[in-house]
Amino acid sequence: MKAASLLFVALLCLPAAAQTPSPARVNGQRINDHRIALSNFGANPRGGVSRVAYSEADLKGRAYAMALMQEAGLDVHIDAAGNIVGTRAGSDASLKPLLIGSHIDSVPMGGNYDGDVGSLSAIEVTQTLKEKRVTLRHPLEVIIFQNEEGGTIGSQALGEGLDEKRLNLVSQSGKTIREGTRVVGGNPDQLASAQRKPGSIAGYFELHIEQGGSLEREKINIGVVEGIVGILHSDVTIEGFANHAGTTPMDQRRDALLSAARFIEKVNQIVTGVPGRQVGTVGWIKAEPGAYNVIPGKVVLGLELRDLDEKKIHRPFHPDPDCG
Ligand SMILES: [Zn+2]
Repeated sequence: MKAASLLFVALLCLPAAAQTPSPARVNGQRINDHRIALSNFGANPRGGVSRVAYSEADLKGRAYAMALMQEAGLDVHIDAAGNIVGTRAGSDASLKPLLIGSHIDSVPMGGNYDGDVGSLSAIEVTQTLKEKRVTLRHPLEVIIFQNEEGGTIGSQALGEGLDEKRLNLVSQSGKTIREGTRVVGGNPDQLASAQRKPGSIAGYFELHIEQGGSLEREKINIGVVEGIVGILHSDVTIEGFANHAGTTPMDQRRDALLSAARFIEKVNQIVTGVPGRQVGTVGWIKAEPGAYNVIPGKVVLGLELRDLDEKKIHRPFHPDPDCG
């Protein structure tokens, strides 16, 4: 993954390098040193990291990243959504900015590459440009999104924005998104100022570790994504009838959990029933009232579907062959 990262960052420097006698190359060792230093914030005994957004470790990690950004000559600020943004002027101020970056928060018991590689490589690009005294034509922004692992909060704030429902969600840290955004220096009352209009950015580039393991299985160092998958989350409620589990005969039950089990099986059948890389998961389930001796009267479960093709995401709701 390290070698792969270097390759991509070097490629990013090429347009600038074309103006200089020697191509600008990033310092791979320095990226790795920074990655190891960052891994100390929230390090867990298993060798990974628990740096969930808005935690003490997250705040320390962000402070560390901001110091590196300042060292790289970036003009650093925190936008209203709590994202860290470091800007570097280009030679033509009329051009739209290029964005590079990722995130440094982690899932509980996460790894030390997810997000960190993209964030620190982006900083390294600017550090290298500073050292080589290269000015790009476009303004360049390094962006570190806040709370990416808790529902892509920071990046959503840039695009479609965050609604009240999202702001009120409780994150892994125990704080709501609204509270957490304040803790990291954002202002949830001014979120509109963090949004970027469609067409206002020249391009966005992110290095990211591949989490599916396909490249590793194929022994390929690096891949380029074909697109960004759509994600559909649905809360599915199945209504049955709660009744005594000891006395209600089997043929007179309306067992919501039994229906849920069939639903989960069906999701899997439909998702795997057509070629492609679409994935579908039921990731959580809640049965009510939840007792040994009561037939479940109600089940709520969380369904997630992902694919590059929107039609396929909706397929489980329209399992008609004509529907794609
Ligand atoms: Zn990530």
